[in-house]
Amino acid sequence: MAEETEAFRYARHLLLEGWDQEALRNSSVMVVGVGALGCEIAKNLALAGVGTMHLVDMDIIEMSNLSRQLLFRESDTGRYKAAVAAEWIANANPDVEVIPHEGKFQDLPIEVYEDLDLILGGLDSFEARFQLNELAWRLGKVYIDSAATGFKGNVQVIVPPGVENVAERTACLKCFYPIPPADGAAAAACTVPGHARTRDHCIIKGEEAFIKAHGKREEYSVEDLEIIAGLAHDASVDSPHTDEWTFTAPEVENLLMNKLPSVITVNAVVASLQSHEALKVLHRIKGRDIGPPMDPTYIEYSSQYGILTPVEIEIDPACQSCSRTAGDELPLASWTLGGLLDAIDGMGVPAEKALITRTSDGAVVSNFGKGDVEADLAGVGVRSGDGLRISYKVDGERTSIEVTVKEGEG
Ligand SMILES: [Zn+2]
Repeated sequence: MAEETEAFRYARHLLLEGWDQEALRNSSVMVVGVGALGCEIAKNLALAGVGTMHLVDMDIIEMSNLSRQLLFRESDTGRYKAAVAAEWIANANPDVEVIPHEGKFQDLPIEVYEDLDLILGGLDSFEARFQLNELAWRLGKVYIDSAATGFKGNVQVIVPPGVENVAERTACLKCFYPIPPADGAAAAACTVPGHARTRDHCIIKGEEAFIKAHGKREEYSVEDLEIIAGLAHDASVDSPHTDEWTFTAPEVENLLMNKLPSVITVNAVVASLQSHEALKVLHRIKGRDIGPPMDPTYIEYSSQYGILTPVEIEIDPACQSCSRTAGDELPLASWTLGGLLDAIDGMGVPAEKALITRTSDGAVVSNFGKGDVEADLAGVGVRSGDGLRISYKVDGERTSIEVTVKEGEG
């Protein structure tokens, strides 16, 4: 695009203190999940002028998406979300190079991730969010997670160690949810013996009758859902506990397919908070500054009360996704006491609260971060390949981990 046209397109941005349009043009992001959140995120970042955008989604567009997902039209139903969203973006801002991926993010080759500056999640399953959290952490990429269900939503900024200029490493998604809530499964979790007592029971009885007559299905077609709605009606007629109720195919689908309640306004608020965090992080990664990432790194939105609540999340030193555990190697770029303390900080252990000893004989290497940080580790008797025990307190309890130190890229 000609420079003058670009100057006009982004003219209002140029009035913002610290804004750097070129930093955004040179940025590359991935949006995983192009649903109610992902459509908003992709729209925001594309119009803001982020240069390269990968869109990942395995789903096709359904009628029930159209109340919230502005990149899709009724005529798009049956097509892949990633492809249609990419067309919308290409039309809305031709400056953006947009690359759709019609499949799972877990199946993408690792090279796709290499050039990314950050990853944004707009996923509706905890399982997938945890996988993306861990993948991004291992690749050393900033991951901005979000979720919205019903009248509530939340955003979390997750920064792994070693991302320059952005922030100290933060807690990850799993630090906050060590035991994740089960995904959906409201219907799958319960069977209903005897007569139905509620609308949900009737639908579950309807499904049981459908499976008896037609066999089990992975996905229900609209025709299947209508048959189940009729069988749910029969279940209500058969039950002494219920009135004679009628059911619709969408109601049946919501329950049986574990659909979550969702409204565009809540999704838009959450996705806007998330998108703006992305703009700040991208500026910082490119050495510019329009503000630091939010701190605390997690914020919750309650639309019923119109309240945003920041939530402090502690790094969990025993987190399965982001912490090193006993037996891990700890490569040190700088072979000094300071380098060692930095690496330990990077593991989520506050070095000034840790006692570090040599595993072989218990000799003290550092006592609560004290000592000359410039001192060569060899001077305090530590050689590459030595084991160190790092002990420290969590919630008043003393705990310890062991690592092997190695010379290398820290
Ligand atoms: Zn963690």
